[in-house]
Amino acid sequence: MQQTLLLNASYEPLSVISWQRAMTMWCLKKVEVIAEYDERQIHSASSTFRMPSVVRLLQYVRRRYVGVRFSRQNIYARDSHQCQYCGRKAPQVELTLDHVFPKSRGGRTSWENIVACCVQCNRKKGGLTPKEARMKLLKTPIKPSHHNQLDMSFNRSRAPHEWLDFLPTK
Ligand SMILES: [Zn+2]
Repeated sequence: MQQTLLLNASYEPLSVISWQRAMTMWCLKKVEVIAEYDERQIHSASSTFRMPSVVRLLQYVRRRYVGVRFSRQNIYARDSHQCQYCGRKAPQVELTLDHVFPKSRGGRTSWENIVACCVQCNRKKGGLTPKEARMKLLKTPIKPSHHNQLDMSFNRSRAPHEWLDFLPTK
């Protein structure tokens, strides 16, 4: 887990970001570090930092301005680390991203056209559409709303213990 929980100034969880982004925000004095990972350190030329596990924005942002970033990690999270063709749950190293409508034929790299896919299914599908390859998608890919993202990122069972104080208990 090399991620940092970003809290609003009001301490409500906003999103999960990379620790590098958290450090950048900290250098820009946009956030304060609330908790650190005990065992992880970052070495720079002149000093050593602990990796931030929870940071808090110094200025309150209204939630609706926080979008869900399009990234490999967020696609895997949206798709529950599950191949969207065969349904197999797989660790990240055995997953890849598949363009539903093939990239080679102009398929876009977007929330609506990218799904998590296991290496085998990806190879099998090749440059075909799901229909041509006779492979059915488990569900139609959509851009997650912020609410969906909170659900997927803030799963307490997968969260580092440093985050638990700040996550909703549902
Ligand atoms: Zn598969």
